[in-house]
Amino acid sequence: MIVGRLAPTPSGRLHLGNVCAFAAAWLSARADGGRLLLRIEDVDVTRARPEVEQSLRDDLAWLGLTADEEVARQSSRDYAPALARLAPRLYRCQCTRAMREQPLPAGAGCQGHCVDRGHTDGAIRFRLDAGPMTFVDRRWGPQRTDPRTFGDPILVRRDGLVSYNLAVVADDVADGVTDVVRGSDLLEYTAVQIQLWQALGAPPPRWLHAPLVLGADGKKLSKSHGSAHVGAMRDAGATPADVWRVVLPWLGIPGASSLAEALPRWDPAAGPRGPITLPR
Ligand SMILES: [Zn+2]
Repeated sequence: MIVGRLAPTPSGRLHLGNVCAFAAAWLSARADGGRLLLRIEDVDVTRARPEVEQSLRDDLAWLGLTADEEVARQSSRDYAPALARLAPRLYRCQCTRAMREQPLPAGAGCQGHCVDRGHTDGAIRFRLDAGPMTFVDRRWGPQRTDPRTFGDPILVRRDGLVSYNLAVVADDVADGVTDVVRGSDLLEYTAVQIQLWQALGAPPPRWLHAPLVLGADGKKLSKSHGSAHVGAMRDAGATPADVWRVVLPWLGIPGASSLAEALPRWDPAAGPRGPITLPR
């Protein structure tokens, strides 16, 4: 059974890049007769805002991006069991931000400072295995990356807050997710997450990285790109069909004005790889 998920983060309003990735997740799950979960990714409680969460829910419903089931939000979950399972590969890191930003060779623990020091407090890092890894992305094809380019990921911050790196993988494993669909800015980072999946004793999911959508200024969409937000488009009189006629061509389905119309034409490998740059 295919299990996909929509996993919005309630720190920013829904923009066209989110819509593109969520549409790919929706179409992928529906096309294969799978289930689709909704999970609110509010592990970083310092950034989550209730009014933003409500606007995300409203925008998803307005677009017809419906899930079959809502699973536990991240802020209500216990990540201690996952950390216990990962314990043989965890170590404490006491690097300061300045130390972390020094350009040191890839693949040297937390850049060589703490991996074998036996610190008893500090941030908790996950020790990556050496060497390049391969995986297949359903849109981008075979990929080969060295996860250590990124350095050992922090799973728990120095202040005790569980990081997104740990939460997203532990949740997907706990929720039985088989399909991970998201923006292509995370394509290379997949290698790091595969190691976490494996260390948690779970078979890694199918991966699909949707085109990244950039503002007219070439930058990742953010609050400053107001017109690329679904709420702003709706306020300006757009209908869901108007949004879909913009977004679905990015997934290789031009001319469709609803998800239902797009579904029979879904092909995970079709369409541009991106990035897509919005017109001015
Ligand atoms: Zn360190």
